Amino acid sequence: MIEADLAVTGIAELATPTGTTPRSGSDLGRLHIVPDAAIAARSGVIVFVGTERDYRQTVTLIPGAQCIDAQRGTVLPGFVDAHTHLAFAGWREREFDERLRGATYSEIAARGGGILTTVTATRAASEEQLVELTRARLDAMLRLGTTTVEVKSGYGLTVEDELKQLRAVETAAKGHPVEVVPTFLGAHTIPAEHRADRRRWIDILTRDLLPTVAGQRLAEYADAFVDAHALTPDEARRVLGAAREHGLGVRLHADQLHDDGATALAAELGAASADHLEFASDAGLEALARAGSCGVLLPVATFFTRVATAPPGRRLVQAGVPVVVATDFNPGTCPMESMPLAVAFACVGGGLSVDEAITAATLNAACALGRGSRTGSLEVGKRADLVVLAVPNRYHLAYRMGLAPLAHVVARGQSVGAGSR
Ligand SMILES: [Zn+2]
Repeated sequence: MIEADLAVTGIAELATPTGTTPRSGSDLGRLHIVPDAAIAARSGVIVFVGTERDYRQTVTLIPGAQCIDAQRGTVLPGFVDAHTHLAFAGWREREFDERLRGATYSEIAARGGGILTTVTATRAASEEQLVELTRARLDAMLRLGTTTVEVKSGYGLTVEDELKQLRAVETAAKGHPVEVVPTFLGAHTIPAEHRADRRRWIDILTRDLLPTVAGQRLAEYADAFVDAHALTPDEARRVLGAAREHGLGVRLHADQLHDDGATALAAELGAASADHLEFASDAGLEALARAGSCGVLLPVATFFTRVATAPPGRRLVQAGVPVVVATDFNPGTCPMESMPLAVAFACVGGGLSVDEAITAATLNAACALGRGSRTGSLEVGKRADLVVLAVPNRYHLAYRMGLAPLAHVVARGQSVGAGSR
């Protein structure tokens, strides 16, 4: 018999991608579906996935074990949010209203608003305040079914404030049920005090910050934002090249508002992912597929910024790029942390099928964060990160547009509660 300390039974449908490598093309939507299922874990690791009938014959619960009745609900892997900026202070609701009245994101950035508004607020916040804000947002994401999340810095933009932001993320993550993957985004934009001498900030990033961040293990990845109001492709190449020399993985905010050639740059750098991609060229996407980099769709940000294009979901699938869906949670272009809503938008706006979007929000996202062998699918040996939805099948996840009710969230084999049924 298999011994377990946690089980979920009474599952109408269990749906999961399988494997430890990212899926693309016609494999993207290939899920393993088990009707009338059960799943069991011990010490946070999955020990059984199968039919409830097999479960009854092979699994025994040890004393004190927890058994969750899914009440004919649907079980999916916990969501992996592979792109967030959640460790910020201050919201930007007034800029949002300005944009509704006709100002563009670029105009607001050009006059020192946008990212720099959040930089000012984040610099003013203490490390303890940032820890509290970060922890509260991790709690909120967990309630929405996110069990692994990437968190970027990039609102400090001085040596001291970038390190403060990354330390706050590290402290907030300690002991939290959500696994946090930290990314250094000192190359988010050129801070106002260095605009007259941009090279100086790139020097600080490559010579001072990157060695310290890598040396203190404050980040696993480095990211750069290539845009007319942020870094040029050459500046990003310098920063991310240095990041690789210091042993960090790299990712890139690429071609969000224009075709800057950043998608091809991500491929050239062997990036773990290129993110946004609304205006990526066909050649850029082909290069990305050849490099094996993931393409991260941020469909709620596409909608929220009201750019005149759709999230390029189908283009990525057709190019053979492993697709990831993430929130881009940040105060400027996506003040929204719900993965179920991001999945719905990836389907309706980006043209993914529900099964493709589930893989993109779980297994592929885990692979993009270097966690493919640990989480992202429901298989024996992987971490017991899962959600129980109070709906009879997986299609409701996208169909109910962010409202598919979460009955339970299990992170690292512990039921952490969730919303209401
Ligand atoms: Zn972003």
